[in-house]
This record gives sequence, structure tokens and C-alpha cells, in this order.
Amino acid sequence: MDDPFTVATEHWHRLDDGRIQCDVCPRACRLHDGQRGLCFVRARADDQIVLTSYGRSSGFCVDPVEKKPLNHFLPGSAVLSFGTAGCNLACKFCQNWDISKSREVDTLARAATPDAIAAAADELGCRSVAFTYNDPVIFWEYAADVADACHDRGIKAIAVTAGYMCPAPRAAFYSHIDAANVDVKAFTEDFYRRVCVGHLADVLDTLVYLRQQTEVWVEITTLLIPGRNDGDAEIAAECAWIAEHLGTDVPLHFTAFHPDYKMRDTPPTPSATLTRARAIGQAAGLRFVYTGNVHDPAGGTTTCPGCGTAVVVRDWYAMRHYALTDDGRCTACGQRLPGVYDGPVGHWGRRRLPV
Ligand code: SF4
Repeated sequence: MDDPFTVATEHWHRLDDGRIQCDVCPRACRLHDGQRGLCFVRARADDQIVLTSYGRSSGFCVDPVEKKPLNHFLPGSAVLSFGTAGCNLACKFCQNWDISKSREVDTLARAATPDAIAAAADELGCRSVAFTYNDPVIFWEYAADVADACHDRGIKAIAVTAGYMCPAPRAAFYSHIDAANVDVKAFTEDFYRRVCVGHLADVLDTLVYLRQQTEVWVEITTLLIPGRNDGDAEIAAECAWIAEHLGTDVPLHFTAFHPDYKMRDTPPTPSATLTRARAIGQAAGLRFVYTGNVHDPAGGTTTCPGCGTAVVVRDWYAMRHYALTDDGRCTACGQRLPGVYDGPVGHWGRRRLPV
């Protein structure tokens, strides 16, 4: 506890055998003194569970909000993205494994107080800050304080997450958050168990919670991996579940996998797979289904559900056409699109600016 980046936490309890169980995520790590959880950044020290990465970041970038991806949240605006280290899942295809699997303190070389992050976002013209690169579930107390500092400056907070979190800390965390992109990594328990070392039901529970009990704007991403989670029946089952339990207005992004981490022998996702998945989603009644990580103007287009006009056309995060009013209404028919619209479209483009 002498480390300035280590803070006490809530959401843990003692077990009869002397261990302490962390209750932040369903992993439920049971720790002896001095041990770290699977996420590596929460640990048992001084007879309690502590967070060891408060106020430290693995780096910052300014991105378009569409890259999170969020297509219905302050479109075209810049977002200050940052992460810490560690993760509470163990996905074999992780696309950010150098951060999420980091055991090196060097990864967290940059000290960053919540006020400093909010001030930087302000100076850089960002309308939001995103907790991304690794999952904010494991550093949620830090993320919540950053979100509060941002709100003081009129800047919103975004969680990019796998949604693998227990109900009590989840409610505490999302009371600070404005928007979330939640990964649904596949739609079978077998995939979650074998490939991610987690459980699908907990993720679905988070999605239902967010939609039914919060005002958080939610979009969903599924990374399609050839031969692993890209079958028609599985995609159709996911889309049908979303339509039934979350509603047809929740945007769904199908994105392309590239070989990485422990799945370097699997080929990249063909764009035809994403197009096929998008068609399945639309057939299930979902009104906003997108493709990502590919050049696909059709898959990046938002169509007005009222009159069928293409109101937003994007190509790999770049805005090609925008026909919504400042409060998100179709300029042709006046129908309001679901999402968070607050002023003119942003003009950040597809730039990525390391900070
Ligand atoms: S947050 Fe970390 S320590 Fe806590 S249960 Fe999850 S993986 Fe384990």
C-alpha cells in the first residue's frame, strides 16, 4: 500500500479458509496474501483486495468515436482513448494482447490523474474519453474518477468492454458512464469457455442490465473469426437474442479478425463474411447493423428507419455523407434516430493521433 498507484477497493469478501475472494468479475479470484488475480492489476495486500494501477496508463491516442466503435454517439467527434494493463478474460485471439496480457510495470509508465486526463481531453477538443485497449472492468474505480473529472468539463465517458462484471460493481461503475460498446465474442458457451475462459451468460446479463436499468447508450461488437464463431446459425441466434432482449435499435458491429496472439494460424476474416453477417442481422429485424475493419461503404451506412434515406455514410471511420439534424433527426423525414446527438457532426475524420 506504499505504492502511490495502489488503492483500497470494495467488492470482496473473506472465505472460511482464509483466502479473500474478489467480487468484481465472475472470475471470482480467491487470493492468499501477496497473490494477484487473473487480471494481474488487482491483488491481495494488507489483508484486503487492492487495485495496483490507479492513475497509471499505457498510453493515449485521439481517435474518431466511430473507431470504438460507436456509430450513434456524437458522430464524427474525437475521443481520447486510453487503457492501463491486464484483463479479466484470456481470449486467445486478443487484438491488444501486448497491453491486456502485460505483466510489465513498464507498460504503465505514464502517470495520469483523472484531472490531468480530463484537462488533456479538453485541450485536444475531445468530446469524450474512452476506457479501451484493455477492459475497464478491472480498473473501474480509476475509470469512474476519470469519468467524473470529465463530466465536470462537459466531456462524456465511454467504456469499451467485454461486459464480464458482477452486478454490484457493475451498477457502481455504470453510474459514471455515458456510453458503452460491449463485445459479444461469440454466441456459444463453448466458445467463451474454450477460447476466452469465461461465460456467455454473464455478458448477456450485463447487456440486459444496461438496456433495462440504465441510460447508458449501448452498441455491440462481434469480432468474426473464420471457422470459430462465423456460422449462419450462430450469427442468427445472436441477432434474434438481441432483437428479443435488447430491442432492434441497438447497433451491432461485425468486425474483421486479424491473426494475433495465440491464433496466428487462423486466416483473417473475408469481407464477404461480414457482409453475410450483416444481412443475417437485418433479416432478424435489427435496424442498425454495421461492418468494421474493412472498406465497405454499404456496411458503414446508417439508413433512416422512417424513410429509407442513407443519412450517414462512412468508409472505415471516415464520414462521407451526413444528413442528420443537430438533435439526430433525418433531414428528409424528421424521424429521430436512436443514439446521442448533441450539435453538429464532428470533423475529426479517421486520423489517429498519439498523445
Ligand atoms: S477483477 Fe481481477 S482479481 Fe477480481 S475476480 Fe476479476 S480477474 Fe480476479
